[in-house]
Amino acid sequence: MVGDLQFSWELGGAGWATCRIAEGNAEHRAHVGYCTDALADLLYAVTGLYGGTTDQRASFDLEPVEMRWLLRRQGADVSITVFEFPDGATSWGSPDETGGTLAWSSTQPRSVLGHKVMEAAVTVLRKHGEDGYLEKWMRHAFPVAALQDLQRLHRRDDHCPHERCRNDFES
Ligand SMILES: [Zn+2]
Repeated sequence: MVGDLQFSWELGGAGWATCRIAEGNAEHRAHVGYCTDALADLLYAVTGLYGGTTDQRASFDLEPVEMRWLLRRQGADVSITVFEFPDGATSWGSPDETGGTLAWSSTQPRSVLGHKVMEAAVTVLRKHGEDGYLEKWMRHAFPVAALQDLQRLHRRDDHCPHERCRNDFES
């Protein structure tokens, strides 16, 4: 059901985050490792949906599993497909069709996806601050620039009905 999308990103112990996306009873949850700048990669993939390229990807390292998000823009909507590859060491950068299994999929308005991912990142920043984020994620700082890009494009292009998206972001 449209409007039912849930997304969260929660820092766990040192070097781990729990990424959760759900629509109704269909939930996907992944424990993402800190070897890559995962939250930044996701924010940039969503931000890319506001440009001319229809397909965006973000891969998460679950050591050894790779979870790959394929975001495909279709007009005002985005089809979200999450693939699981058992061995990230060999699958990283490979075609989506080979070796991956479907873990989760949904089609959502871009305005909803953009809003939910932005809100999740804002929640992380509010909870931990930039210093706290770096302490937990260690290899990468909080992706401030990526979040700002997404906020700017979401506000500009999505006509989001949420109050916060019609005003300047208050940190
Ligand atoms: Zn919004």
